[in-house]
Amino acid sequence: GPSREEVIAMRKQYVSPGVITYYKEPLMVVEGKMQYVWDEKGKRYLDAFAGIVTVSVGHCHPKVMEKVNEQNGKLQHTTTIYLHPAIARFAEKLASKMPDGLTRSYFTNSGSEANEIAILSAREHTGNTEVIALRNGYHGGTATAMGLTAHGTWKFKQNNAPGVHHTHAGYCYRCPYGLEYPSCDLKCARDVEEVIRYQTPGEVACFIGEPIQGVGGTVTPPKEYFQIVYEIVRRSGGICIADEVQGGFGRTGKHYWAHQNYDVVPDGITMAKGIGNGAPLGGFTTTEAISQVMTNRIHFNTFGGNPVSMTQGLATLEVIDEDGIQQNALEVGGRLMEGLLALQDKHPLIGEVRGMGLMLGVELVRDRQSREPANTEAAEVMEQMKHRGVLIGKGGLYGNTLRIKPPMCLTADDADYLAAALDEVLENLRIK
Ligand code: PMP
Repeated sequence: GPSREEVIAMRKQYVSPGVITYYKEPLMVVEGKMQYVWDEKGKRYLDAFAGIVTVSVGHCHPKVMEKVNEQNGKLQHTTTIYLHPAIARFAEKLASKMPDGLTRSYFTNSGSEANEIAILSAREHTGNTEVIALRNGYHGGTATAMGLTAHGTWKFKQNNAPGVHHTHAGYCYRCPYGLEYPSCDLKCARDVEEVIRYQTPGEVACFIGEPIQGVGGTVTPPKEYFQIVYEIVRRSGGICIADEVQGGFGRTGKHYWAHQNYDVVPDGITMAKGIGNGAPLGGFTTTEAISQVMTNRIHFNTFGGNPVSMTQGLATLEVIDEDGIQQNALEVGGRLMEGLLALQDKHPLIGEVRGMGLMLGVELVRDRQSREPANTEAAEVMEQMKHRGVLIGKGGLYGNTLRIKPPMCLTADDADYLAAALDEVLENLRIK
């Protein structure tokens, strides 16, 4: 194939400048196995960003690949206008993992499309149009999903979608009211009441929120946050949708779904990324009643529910069960969290360590008092981690939060290596 330099030149000429790369010297990845990837020179990296939180059980996991290769050899594509076994088996398996009452799934190719279907369903089901989303949230790049997205890096004027309103996200480290939990009495959650009263006719179609914000920088609201928001939204006629694109499938360790950490039951769940371990696969699962809005109406998705994606999704969910992936996320994630908290004691640059299981965030600040975002430092940490053979992501309101979300097969040794590498990098940064 073409060399790294040729790939860079070809991308410059033929690929849209909207397709961005990480790092000063973009990394070329040619191979992946479980939690590791290799570049063209054969250098190995611990992939602690998992292709943006997508490779959930490991790159080219043998059990997943065996089933996918078999399906590819047998029937690579047909559409849902014909019956095929894979969609039925996957939908059944998914329903077995859902909270009670969420049984019916609509399959797409991405998280954006899953969110489109969720909002469409909510609007049709309730007869209302207004949608409440979270500040700093990320829900995708299609029209409605872009409108829901309220993230600083999203610089399109079109994302000002009519009928979408944003409320406070439960981001305690940067509380918009300057209050402290729990004496704040969750003022940020109660703000939904004000948003509904002043920005809508008083009735809403739905609330959509990530239980733990991913792109937004591992924003992990207090326990009662979603209980309060869900109650207010339901009282205003809306349904509640949990975007589990990043937080689902055992990643938070203690529970299969991120929303379960908050003791709430949503009316619908949107999924993508880790659900297929890299397959272009998304979905919206909801109640029998809400799913009925699609009856006798054609909303077609050519690739949605195709045999290969369905097979890869099923194999992934089976591996999560069979390989004890959720338990591993809990144990290894807990160990990594401890390691990161120990670094916080040592390095003033670490303002806060957040998250659960293997969905972790480290927010960097120049000064712990003023909490001035250390965004250039975060970029430098990412570069230095890469030199030490560790890939991490970054995000957050100011691009100053390191994101650590590896394949959930991460070992204790990997976790220790990652923490030790970050320790060295932060130490070097301090000396400079
Ligand atoms: N929801 C969340 C929480 C996401 O993180 C993303 C992708 N970053 C999406 C939705 C959109 O998914 P996709 O890129 O597959 O359309």
